[in-house]
Amino acid sequence: MKKHIVAGNWKMNKTATETDALIEELLEQDLDPNVEVIIAPTSIHLSQATQATNGSRISVAAQNMHQAESGAFTGEISASMLLGVGVQHVILGHSERRAYFGENDSLLAEKVQAALKNNLEVIFCFGEELSDRQQNKHFDLVESQLRNALFDLPAESWEHIVLAYEPVWAIGTGETASPEQAQEMHAFIRQLLVDQYGNDCAQSVSILYGGSVKPANAAEIFAKPDVDGGLIGGASLNATDFAAIVNGFKS
Ligand code: PEP
Repeated sequence: MKKHIVAGNWKMNKTATETDALIEELLEQDLDPNVEVIIAPTSIHLSQATQATNGSRISVAAQNMHQAESGAFTGEISASMLLGVGVQHVILGHSERRAYFGENDSLLAEKVQAALKNNLEVIFCFGEELSDRQQNKHFDLVESQLRNALFDLPAESWEHIVLAYEPVWAIGTGETASPEQAQEMHAFIRQLLVDQYGNDCAQSVSILYGGSVKPANAAEIFAKPDVDGGLIGGASLNATDFAAIVNGFKS
């Protein structure tokens, strides 16, 4: 079912003590009850995050996971390990994983399948580089990222997938896609889903926008009809800013 969702990707930020403090501050915020709120602390703090948010309306995502169930993969974490500490979601395909850790569409297809098999909800990130947009290749690029990683999945799987369109040129740069650019791409993505899976499925998938969303610009981006929420990096590290973004649907 399509929902309003705001997810915070904390990336490699916050110590254990700071993680507890930020969660405590978040739990004190007045958050729009109609928005699903997700936080993604670094993996070493997932267990404490699920404990600290237990019984609250904040759920926890991992920022990555390995595609194998178990085995000789030093330093990696499997889907069942995430589930075992109460994690419900996993972010896959973030542009930083693609750029710095060589994650490509076929690896991401494997990761998505492993996550779904283990009943994790997937937040799947994708988006074009600035050069793609300058050459007017951004629609083709986004289409190929989705087709290669996700479009072999059966329609039922889409109940457990949230899409996060994140133009790479807008991530951590302070530069945001305009609400019109976001809407244009989200409508394109929705149409791809209609063509591949039919209208009911397409209308049920939440499509988030990510890229320098702040309290000052969240409301106008979230007001667009095909923008169902946001994946927030920098601004999710501050409880009042994150809460203001969550509450951006109200205005
Ligand atoms: C992100 O990394 O997913 C992101 C959207 O970051 P920021 O909000 O800092 O641009």
